[in-house]
Amino acid sequence: MKLWSNYVMAATVDEAVKALAEAGGKAKPVAGGTDLLLELQQGRQESVHTLVDVSAIPDLQRLEVRGGQLFVGAGVPVARIVQHPFMRLHAPGVVEACGLIGGPQVRNTATLGGNVAHALPAADGMISLAAMDAVAEVAGANGLRLVPLLELFRGPGKSILTENHEILVGFYLPLRTAGQGSAFSRVMRPQGVALPILNMAIWLQRTGESIECVRIAVGPAGPTPQRALAVEEFLYGKPYTPEIAAQAVELIRSTMKFRTSPRRATAEYRTHLVGVLLLEVLEKAWQRASKLEAI
Ligand SMILES: Cc1cc2nc3c(=O)[nH]c(=O)nc-3n(C[C@H](O)[C@H](O)[C@H](O)COP(=O)(O)OP(=O)(O)OC[C@H]3O[C@@H](n4cnc5c(N)ncnc54)[C@H](O)[C@@H]3O)c2cc1C
Repeated sequence: MKLWSNYVMAATVDEAVKALAEAGGKAKPVAGGTDLLLELQQGRQESVHTLVDVSAIPDLQRLEVRGGQLFVGAGVPVARIVQHPFMRLHAPGVVEACGLIGGPQVRNTATLGGNVAHALPAADGMISLAAMDAVAEVAGANGLRLVPLLELFRGPGKSILTENHEILVGFYLPLRTAGQGSAFSRVMRPQGVALPILNMAIWLQRTGESIECVRIAVGPAGPTPQRALAVEEFLYGKPYTPEIAAQAVELIRSTMKFRTSPRRATAEYRTHLVGVLLLEVLEKAWQRASKLEAI
C-alpha cells in the first residue's frame, strides 16, 4: 500500500507552510522520519497525501545565540545538539536528554522539532525543553509567532501545529548565567519501547546555599507534558538541605498523578520513581549551578 502520494522537498519555511496549506489537512511535515515513517509503516498513522520534508530548510538548521537567547532550529538532529559547545554550556539538561534518545543512528537523524511536534507527554528532548521554559517559534499562513512550549500540546499526539497546519521553526532558550544549572534523568526499560517509564528535567537558580528559583518537568504525568508546580513553589527561596529535599520528594509523590501503562510501568512504581529522579536531578543541577562550565 502506498503510504503517501506526493513528496515535497521544501527549501524555505514559506514553501513548507504553503505546501501544508495547499494540501488542506492531507499533508504532514517530515524531518528525520524516525517517528512518522514507522507510524505510517505500522499503520498507527493513516496514510497521508503529501509529505512535506522540512529537513533541508536552512532556517531550521540554525543553532546560534540570537537576541540574547540561544536559538535551536527545529530541524537540528539531536546528535548535533549533544556535541555543540553552546548547548553543553548553556543547556546541559537538554544535552543529557538528547544524548539518551535512541541509539547513534537514531540520534543522527531524529530532530528536536520532531520530538516536540510528535506531542507525546514523555518525549525526552521535549521534557528537557519544558524545564528550560523554552519558547517555540512557529510558522503558519499568517507568518511567524512565538508560543510558550507547553501551550503547544492538546493531548497525546495532538498539538496546535497540526490543527493550524503550522511548522516548528525552532526554540528559544535562556542563556545560562552564574548560579544556574540544569539536568535531566530518566528510567527506561532496556529494550522494546522508545519512551521512558519516567523522565524528569530541572532548571534552577541558586543564591548562596538557597534555591532562588526552580522549574521541574515530568513525563508522562498526564495527557500533556507537566511541570511539578507545587514542588517548584515549595522550593522557592528554601535552603538546599537533605531535609528540604526529603520534603520535596514527599510533595512530588503526593501531588503528581501517574497512570499504569501495560507495557511500561504501574502508577505505584512511577510514584516511587518520581522521588528518586527528583533527588538525582536536584543534586546534579545544584552542583552545576556552583560553576559556570560546560559538561
Ligand atoms: C529506535 C528508536 C528509539 C527511540 N528512542 C527514543 C528515546 O529514547 N526518547 C525519545 O524521546 N524518543 C525516542 N524515539 C523517538 C524519535 O526518535 C524522536 O521523537 C525524534 O526526535 C522525532 O524526530 P524526527 O525528526 O524523526 O521526527 P519525524 O518522525 O520526522 O516527525 C515526527 C512528528 O513531528 C512532525 N514534525 C517533524 N518536524 C516538524 C516540524 N519542524 N514542524 C512541525 N511538525 C514537525 C511530523 O509531522 C510528525 O508528526 C526513538 C525512535 C526510535 C525509532
